Amino acid sequence: MSDSWDLIVVGGGAAGFFAAITAAESRPGLRVLILEKTAHVLGKVKISGGGRCNVTHDCADPRELANNYPRGSKSLIGPLHRWGAADTVAWFEQRGVNLKTEKDGRMFPVTDDSQTIINCLTTAAENAGVAIRTSTAVESITHDETKNSFHLVTGQGEELPASSVLLATGGTRLAAGARLAQSLGHKLIADVPSLFAFNIDDPRIDDLPGVSVPDSEVTVEGMKLTANGPLLITHHGLSGPGILKLSAWGARELHASNYRFTITVNWIPGQDAAAILTSTRQTWGKRQVRSQAPFDNIPKRLWQRLCDAAEVSADCIWSQLGKETTQKLTTELTRGRYQVSSKSTNKDEFVTCGGVSLKDVNLKTMESKLLPGLYFAGEVLDIDGITGGFNFQNAWTGGRLAGLAIAEK
Ligand SMILES: Cc1cc2nc3c(=O)[nH]c(=O)nc-3n(C[C@H](O)[C@H](O)[C@H](O)COP(=O)(O)OP(=O)(O)OC[C@H]3O[C@@H](n4cnc5c(N)ncnc54)[C@H](O)[C@@H]3O)c2cc1C
Repeated sequence: MSDSWDLIVVGGGAAGFFAAITAAESRPGLRVLILEKTAHVLGKVKISGGGRCNVTHDCADPRELANNYPRGSKSLIGPLHRWGAADTVAWFEQRGVNLKTEKDGRMFPVTDDSQTIINCLTTAAENAGVAIRTSTAVESITHDETKNSFHLVTGQGEELPASSVLLATGGTRLAAGARLAQSLGHKLIADVPSLFAFNIDDPRIDDLPGVSVPDSEVTVEGMKLTANGPLLITHHGLSGPGILKLSAWGARELHASNYRFTITVNWIPGQDAAAILTSTRQTWGKRQVRSQAPFDNIPKRLWQRLCDAAEVSADCIWSQLGKETTQKLTTELTRGRYQVSSKSTNKDEFVTCGGVSLKDVNLKTMESKLLPGLYFAGEVLDIDGITGGFNFQNAWTGGRLAGLAIAEK
């Protein structure tokens, strides 16, 4: 058996590196080892943000930041107070990596190259004396109560003892990592898809792929789920940020419904449909109703489909639009009901949520409540953010808090 390590980090991703660097920098001399099962560390950082790495989000308020996590939002308020987006920005800047903010708040290295982040993290780890082994998967972990130490067994059969262990093995789809947590008594919250499009077979949106509406409000009936945002009509139904947000916030309920549910779409949120239709009847009296929508954001082809659904006849002019048809058109514009029959299986949009239950983790220190000396950080936990840099922020925050707590032990 090899010499004992003070800390073994399982998983050489964003969370694992941040924790290892923090622990080693905070307590020089601490023996820290990162074990990574693939041939390269920080593989997800490399491909993240289209190769640019969306490091974090420009949001100084921890509560506001926490609102971007469909799973974990309340639990993260405390941790984000202790290590928020501004701390992440300062940390990288102190190490010579400047970040820039895009219009939507996403932050990237000014180089637009994820390798800048990888170089920064690997250099910081090296300078702090962190040992790193790649192509080394941890197969099992046991805890020896009498010696109060952990024993890790690698794929090569090597046994490594450690006083503390941090599990930072990423999402549960890479189920081996999460199973390590389970083998040590931790409950796993089942993983379900998040961020997917809705498949809808409906004449109102058939054959209109690519047609988009810049703002909409979509509600899932019976589930208290509503999201605002742009909508995109696809070959199979609806997508776009408004739908993806809904799929993330409703991941568990939508999964439980077997992806069969009804949505209502408001194509013109914030606009008074009935009043606008009435005034258009007066101003455009002789024009054909179907020829143009009196709403800037509704493309003509979609407007014509909504007119079809409201039974507006082909040659009807505005002055002939009756009360009943006006009402039907108002309903189509603001409360049109659409049956979702399944979800998309587009791999690019396929993200899962789930992981180690937060109930068993002290989120001040990221230490297990069940087994002292065992820590968690990053995506292995039942926390997931919407896109925009929030997932890495969770990894930096968890890694930082775990690293500090381990160094202070
Ligand atoms: C294509 C893509 C793009 C993304 N872009 C962004 C973005 O721009 N911004 C953002 O905020 N988020 C982004 N994300 C999400 C982000 O990458 C993750 O949230 C983040 O990487 C989680 O960090 P982590 O350290 O918890 O896990 P990971 O980065 O997944 O690291 C876990 C590591 O553990 C290793 N491992 C697993 N099991 C074992 C084991 N048994 N033994 C040893 N090693 C093990 C894995 O090989 C892996 O290297 C993206 C995700 C994807 C898939």
